[in-house]
Amino acid sequence: MTYATSNQLRSIESRISSLSETLEGSTSKNGGGISISGGTAANTYKASATSTRPPPPPPPHNFTTQPSRNPLSRLQINSLNTAITSYKSATSASTNTLSTSIDSPTRRQTSKRPPTRIEVKRISLLPSRKSTTSASIYKKKKSATGENTRQSSSSSTHSSTNSSTTPPHLTSSLSTSVYNPLKGISSKNYSLSDFEIGKTLGKGKLGKVYCAREKNTGFVCALKVMSKKDIIDFKIEKNFRREVEIQSQLRHKSISRLYGYFYDSENVYLILEYAIYGELYQHLKTQRRFNDVTASHYIYQMAQGLSYLHSKHIIHRDIKPENILLSFNNTIKISDFGWSVRHSPGTSQRRLTMCGTLDYLPPEMIESKDHDVGVDIWALGVLCFELLVGKPPFEEIDKNATYKRIAKVDLKIPSFVSVEAADLIQILLQHNPKKRFQLNDIPNHPWIQKNMKYWPSSVNE
Ligand code: AMP
Repeated sequence: MTYATSNQLRSIESRISSLSETLEGSTSKNGGGISISGGTAANTYKASATSTRPPPPPPPHNFTTQPSRNPLSRLQINSLNTAITSYKSATSASTNTLSTSIDSPTRRQTSKRPPTRIEVKRISLLPSRKSTTSASIYKKKKSATGENTRQSSSSSTHSSTNSSTTPPHLTSSLSTSVYNPLKGISSKNYSLSDFEIGKTLGKGKLGKVYCAREKNTGFVCALKVMSKKDIIDFKIEKNFRREVEIQSQLRHKSISRLYGYFYDSENVYLILEYAIYGELYQHLKTQRRFNDVTASHYIYQMAQGLSYLHSKHIIHRDIKPENILLSFNNTIKISDFGWSVRHSPGTSQRRLTMCGTLDYLPPEMIESKDHDVGVDIWALGVLCFELLVGKPPFEEIDKNATYKRIAKVDLKIPSFVSVEAADLIQILLQHNPKKRFQLNDIPNHPWIQKNMKYWPSSVNE
């Protein structure tokens, strides 16, 4: 497939941004003025006043610095409509047809981790685990296809909701054709013929994601196509339902929107917010590591998004660069809620499921203890390190060595990491979840304060 040149993409983006700006005015600011809560973290900070504004460094990814816009605006739909036409012709994408025979699901092909980072064949550190989770399915897939990528890992417990038996009503292909794995969740009254299908955006664990445009409104979205047969065969119905239920209720600018779904005899189609720059992981791989301005911008937005999730009593549990998408103005979109879960504090419900990605597992999961929202805060610390250093902090060829380093919080921060960034990493990566720095305090941390004046204006306002 031919890809658009960066100049073409920049021109498309700038057309969209300027059209949107004209039509919608400025966005509201997010996250300012958050006060410091009285300190479960080691350090507390005061927001430092910004004095003279130094000249901004070059934009991290040559992205524009226009404010981001509400993707649902009807007016913007029109501008996106124009843009996607150019985009499609620029990319020589095949349009109007989508094969209903979806490729066999494989691990994503465009975001492979180096081989040493993934071999999570055993995750049975916890007693009495079943191994019928979707992650183990993905692993089977991976070994079948010989692919090597870093992957999510899991082992289940009483709190896992994975199904292990094929529903009796799904024994014939006829019944499969009317089967809706998301029954009970209201669906959109759409069919595939309502969409023009553009280029493939990526391949996921189960199915492909396409750029698509709704014909009536011209609304541009990402259409994730998942084979019903695979959902059944790999026994991921409950996880899939939970993912859709949770993500469809979320409304935050740092979280990828799920607008709805529809299905036909073969597939289920998720209508997702389109993130034009794709996976953050790809950008990290290309650039090896990010500078302080870029990394702090992402961490700030992640903290905002996670804070929102936690306020809704949802734990994401699989934060990593592969699950973060990039949109205009370097805005991030947290995606992939396959391991997310509702968590009610103060209830007797214990969360013991070991899930996520090896390099991002927190000590409490390694040590078979209960976990809560603290797992996402830990993951944010790991992410911060990875964005600045180019690899996660406890990475080892031998996964048991990784487990040990995590359990000991054996953290070695390279000297090229700034003092302020190193401090944030350290206070996020606290062994005791209760001592981890609070998400609401992140905007006031000196590293964020020092760098925020260089961010694209829409986030820094
Ligand atoms: P997933 O199945 O969610 O892992 O997605 C597979 C790949 O498709 C990702 O790695 C992205 O490159 C791409 N992708 C998924 N969702 C979107 C989206 N909403 N916008 C743009 N690209 C996406």
